Amino acid sequence: MSHEPTRAAGLARLDAFAPGMGRRYAAERNHDRGGAGEWPGNVSALSPYLRYRLVEEQEVLARALAEHGPDKADKFVSEVLWRGYFRGWLEQRPAVWDRYLAERDAALAAVEANGGLARDYRAAVGGRTGIDCFDAWVGELTEHNWLHNHSRMWFVSIWIFTLRLPWVLGADFFLQHLLDGDSASNTLSWRWVAGLHTRGKAYAARADNIAKYTDGRFDPKGLAAHVEPLTEDFEPALTRFVSPPKPKVEGEWVLLLHEGDLAIEHPLPTAPAGVIALAPRDEGLSEAVAAFRRAAGEDAAARASKAYGCPILPCDRPEAIEAVADGRPVVAPYVSIGNAPALAGVTTFVRDYDAAIWPLATAGFFKVKSGAPAKLRALGLPG
Ligand SMILES: Cc1cc2nc3c(=O)[nH]c(=O)nc-3n(C[C@H](O)[C@H](O)[C@H](O)COP(=O)(O)OP(=O)(O)OC[C@H]3O[C@@H](n4cnc5c(N)ncnc54)[C@H](O)[C@@H]3O)c2cc1C
Repeated sequence: MSHEPTRAAGLARLDAFAPGMGRRYAAERNHDRGGAGEWPGNVSALSPYLRYRLVEEQEVLARALAEHGPDKADKFVSEVLWRGYFRGWLEQRPAVWDRYLAERDAALAAVEANGGLARDYRAAVGGRTGIDCFDAWVGELTEHNWLHNHSRMWFVSIWIFTLRLPWVLGADFFLQHLLDGDSASNTLSWRWVAGLHTRGKAYAARADNIAKYTDGRFDPKGLAAHVEPLTEDFEPALTRFVSPPKPKVEGEWVLLLHEGDLAIEHPLPTAPAGVIALAPRDEGLSEAVAAFRRAAGEDAAARASKAYGCPILPCDRPEAIEAVADGRPVVAPYVSIGNAPALAGVTTFVRDYDAAIWPLATAGFFKVKSGAPAKLRALGLPG
């Protein structure tokens, strides 16, 4: 599906989808209509814009609530809140991301060392398993860099329980190719299907369910009849998320935009004297995702430069930030786990939406869902 990497394109998609955020979304969202990369219309496909914050969750929620009211928009609002739930959950359990990275690296090394695993893994990522839907989704993912939510769930279930491949290799494959690839939503969704997030509860891909929600396009054979949730000997500690006070900066300062958050708004009373455009990391990413990232960053830098009437200061790596800032304080949006590189010597701030939603994600989704309406009203959203 075409996703032009600009805020203007994200806002145009938001406008186009807004009428569908109410009853239509609730009734039709589970259907994956395929469409060879065309926007299907029953879901928003806003995820790449939300991932890079070309469009913010708060804007999307405000639109849904204003156009449809809290009851009719309830399903859509819930789904947007899942994003904040997963992010808040990971921020409060950083060990889960570290463990994912270590297990992924070990599994990639095992692929190099083990011929049988290498063969099965390459058949899966090459779309050569013989399972019709799975092979088609591999093509969609690698050619169009996006998948419907339901297809992601079936894909993961087949990867883990039918193909019996390590989940971390599949999560890595998704992050290489998804335009919306997000360290929290992706890792925790894979863990959820596997039975590691909600312990003991795994998600089974059933052939009749796939046929029904893909309008009969697929007739998969040989799917695992029984799914046994994965287990692990690991209980990540909860470190409660506490937002730091808003930064106070005297005199000239520069705004740093990074691949974790390309919204240009900031909490300081004065405008920045420059915008540092930090080149995004592209290691391990497909060319389409790397190109989307680069162009999204360029779009954000151009908008910030125009809004604040200041120059763009290119910066090719985090270690060069201090020199590029030329001694001036550097202020950046919070660097979320896994979505951007660590930034030394930079003052960060947490956006009000994140400060409101993330701390609710200490346990299951219900606490976020039930606590969110009051928090959203406090942020000035209708509802
Ligand atoms: C295995 C797996 C991996 C996933 N990896 C990612 C990922 O890397 N990045 C990502 O943004 N989403 C991920 N998701 C969640 C979800 O599939 C996508 O956000 C959604 O399909 C994007 O399509 P949309 O924009 O049309 O969503 P819509 O249905 O229109 O929902 C609107 C927005 O709400 C958020 N959202 C919706 N559903 C979910 C969900 N289940 N979890 C978290 N946020 C949600 C997204 O930001 C989405 O853009 C994953 C889901 C699964 C099952």
